Amino acid sequence: MANSKFEYVKQFEQPDSLLPNTWIIVRLDGRGFTKFSTKYAFEKPNDKRALDLMNAAARSVMSELPDITIAYGVSDEYSFVFHKSCTLFERRASKLVSTIVSTFTAYYIHHWPTYFVDGPPLSPPLPSFDGRAVCYPSVQNLRDYMSWRQVDCHINNLYNTTFWALINQGGMDGTAAELMLKGTFSADKNEILFKKFGINYNNEPEIFKKGSVIFRNYELVEPGTKKVSEEEAEEMSSAVPEVKSKSQVEKDKKARTKAKIVVEHLDIIRDEFWERRPWLLS
Ligand code: ATP
Ligand code: ATP
Ligand code: MG
Ligand code: MG
Ligand code: MG
Ligand code: MG
Ligand code: MG
Repeated sequence: MANSKFEYVKQFEQPDSLLPNTWIIVRLDGRGFTKFSTKYAFEKPNDKRALDLMNAAARSVMSELPDITIAYGVSDEYSFVFHKSCTLFERRASKLVSTIVSTFTAYYIHHWPTYFVDGPPLSPPLPSFDGRAVCYPSVQNLRDYMSWRQVDCHINNLYNTTFWALINQGGMDGTAAELMLKGTFSADKNEILFKKFGINYNNEPEIFKKGSVIFRNYELVEPGTKKVSEEEAEEMSSAVPEVKSKSQVEKDKKARTKAKIVVEHLDIIRDEFWERRPWLLS
């Protein structure tokens, strides 16, 4: 850039690089999707096309950004996890968040006609997403974050499934359904679903109950074989940042770029998911 008397304005930019050696999570969320989902007549409580579209957009983001280890999505939100050793954009928060959010939004719109085949095309106001970055210092914190989102998915889905059954099959209005569910526990909702509507919540689609997890797939570790224990993973995560040689970094990146990206609807709260895929946390 040429020198000019105006250049001093660059000094006003504040550094925003995220704490080193921590897991970075960027979570995005649809802006005003309550209204958006009404406009495009999303099926309630779960429109499968809309969830598949979210997953397709997230998958595209992951293939464009090999630094992302794993992602988890539910409803109109998606969380993307960057490995603690990630140095993309010098870990600058605004760069990471804005790149993820704009890439995701671009693909959401790009993939729209594939999933909403029969509906009207998108028209303004177009879908948009907000985003934020949070750092988690330990594997335990990271896993608790993922568990938090999945528990949220479960609680909301059980509530919404019961709420909409009361309306669609039970002929109630929203106010009456809300009143009926006030103060109920999970067991009560399961019972309402089963006794009133013959719905066994356990048989609901996994994508609704568990949300979606996207990751790079390598060879699974058989249950019961030697794997990275939680303590070992924790130890690795709290140790001095691992310094990898440039060629090793390049090799890892190539392997990640080539690995198949899969979308699953699995339990990510229990240990098994992580124990069978030790590369996610190592
Ligand atoms: P904000 O801009 O604050 O996020 P919002 O209206 O998007 O406002 P959320 O809490 O993010 O509020 O809620 C998402 C809304 O989108 C909910 O009303 C939810 O029912 C709806 N929604 C998202 N995905 C689907 C889907 N696949 N099927 C049906 N409804 C959906
Ligand atoms: P980064 O991701 O770091 O921003 P970059 O390649 O986008 O990398 P910039 O400094 O943003 O780097 O530069 C933008 C580039 O896009 C320049 O090479 C510029 O010449 C080119 N470019 C942008 N707009 C136009 C345009 N309208 N016509 C021709 N070239 C353009
Ligand atoms: Mg530029
Ligand atoms: Mg919100
Ligand atoms: Mg939203
Ligand atoms: Mg939301
Ligand atoms: Mg540029």
